[in-house]
Amino acid sequence: ETPPPETTIFRSKFPDIPLSNHLSLHGYCFEKLSEFADAPCIISTDAAGKTYTFRETHLLSRRTAAGFSKLGIKHGDVIMVLLQNSPEFVFAFMGASMLGAVTTAANPFCTASEIYKQFKASGAKLVITQSVYVDKLRNENFPGIGDGLTVLTLDASPEGCTPFSDVLEADETAIPDITIDPEDPVALPYSSGTTGLPKGVILTHKSLISSVAQQVDGENPNLYLKTDDVVLCVLPLFHIFSLNSVLLCSLRAGAAVMIMPKFEITAMLEGIQRHRVSVAMVVPPLVLALAKNPVVEKYDLSSIRIVLSGAAPLGKELEEALRTRVPQAVFGQGYGMTEAGPVLSMCPAFAKEPIAAKTGSCGMVVRNADLKVIDPETGFSLGRNQPGEICIRGPQIMKGYLNDPDATSSTIDVEGWLHTGDIGYVDDDDEVFIVDRVKELIKFKGFQVPPAELEGLLVSHPSIADAAVIPQKDEAAGEVPVAFVVRAKDADLTEEAVKEFIAKQVVFYKRLHKIYFVHSIPKSPSGKILRKDLRAKLATS
Ligand code: AMP
Repeated sequence: ETPPPETTIFRSKFPDIPLSNHLSLHGYCFEKLSEFADAPCIISTDAAGKTYTFRETHLLSRRTAAGFSKLGIKHGDVIMVLLQNSPEFVFAFMGASMLGAVTTAANPFCTASEIYKQFKASGAKLVITQSVYVDKLRNENFPGIGDGLTVLTLDASPEGCTPFSDVLEADETAIPDITIDPEDPVALPYSSGTTGLPKGVILTHKSLISSVAQQVDGENPNLYLKTDDVVLCVLPLFHIFSLNSVLLCSLRAGAAVMIMPKFEITAMLEGIQRHRVSVAMVVPPLVLALAKNPVVEKYDLSSIRIVLSGAAPLGKELEEALRTRVPQAVFGQGYGMTEAGPVLSMCPAFAKEPIAAKTGSCGMVVRNADLKVIDPETGFSLGRNQPGEICIRGPQIMKGYLNDPDATSSTIDVEGWLHTGDIGYVDDDDEVFIVDRVKELIKFKGFQVPPAELEGLLVSHPSIADAAVIPQKDEAAGEVPVAFVVRAKDADLTEEAVKEFIAKQVVFYKRLHKIYFVHSIPKSPSGKILRKDLRAKLATS
């Protein structure tokens, strides 16, 4: 037998930086508060259209902390944020951090049962939302609103709810005196990872401080944000890409974020033009809109100096198409995974002293971290230009999954390597290229669609004997979920009926786009769905 090869470890070309010895994420993000106190921090494009300076953002976060404390939130408690992007999202997240509490954010478009699952699993004590979503919390499973469950609403206050403005009136000096341990959790996003159902990803103060530092700190930051930058914050803050690379990185670097409640092309273009957005953090469907929609021609996008795309694979043609629309901007990708804190690699052309990157590349591994590529079959380390599973190690990765030691140990091995389930390689210039995904996860416009969740729902249907869900390529969405379904004996079930059955229970991006009726689902002897076989079947159908 040949011995395993030496491990090839890939590092950033930029030198490591001293990682901050801060204990808390809020202390770290607001460290240079006195320097930027009067500079804009949050530019809101909602109806009120308010701008908050760094001083105001800090003050309102502190008041929120004091207000939460009055409502009984303590060190270690979890609060649930069910909001579109808004300034209050920022106050709630930072306020919770100041109390040593943890924020679990969910997509407000999720259905009542999807929200309930996260609420229950995370053990959230309080929910912050908007009045339009309150009915989703009146589901029979939830404790009664105002009677066991505290619900804060930003706008109107339906029965039992408390206005968030009450919290903002709390005395900011009344924050209890607590000591944060860097290993304390601060964010709990939900992700299905490489397999199974969504799980709570424990990101500690240390993980997020490290990840932000890897991007924006030091003499030559990999992602150089300037104090006069205005960063587009249209990607949902409940997803870690937006929370970390958009919000936290901007706070740390003293840049302003232009917060938009949702994506709407003309509103976004108007915002970019009006507020002279200089850094556009986007996902591939947004690149598509910017590159192809004729309305873009009517707006002045000359303020944009960086376009950073992440969260899903981006086609080279699209990248080229966008370059012609914003020729002055540096274009590049970041590659992230919630469990990795989330950023694994970042385009080095965004650095203060930039290094050019190739089209299609996801940039270079972040500083203060190790990246390796392994053969998915043998686990042996691979060298340059050889595609295999990407693994990452460093202080930024998650602590583990909440209450799920098995899933944690199958994702982070004993040597501390986090296995991504992504297939990629590192080229001669240390650039990372993602070429495939071996994990189950489907990504619809960058949103996670966990097949196991849809399969569970499908087999709960009395007329369905077995089912498997896999991705199908799609121009606009990147991927869409499609299902292979085995009808129960003598069952009379149409494609429409199956689609409707699922659509009623899930958020829009998890809806099934096609049903293939089959006689059986291919499985391994241990009962695992052979997704590769199904993918091959789809390719030839
Ligand atoms: P999430 O945890 O929702 O951020 O999803 C992480 C997954 O999204 C990664 O493991 C990749 O499969 C995919 N992904 C993120 N960024 C990129 C990128 N730049 N190129 C290709 N895939 C990406």
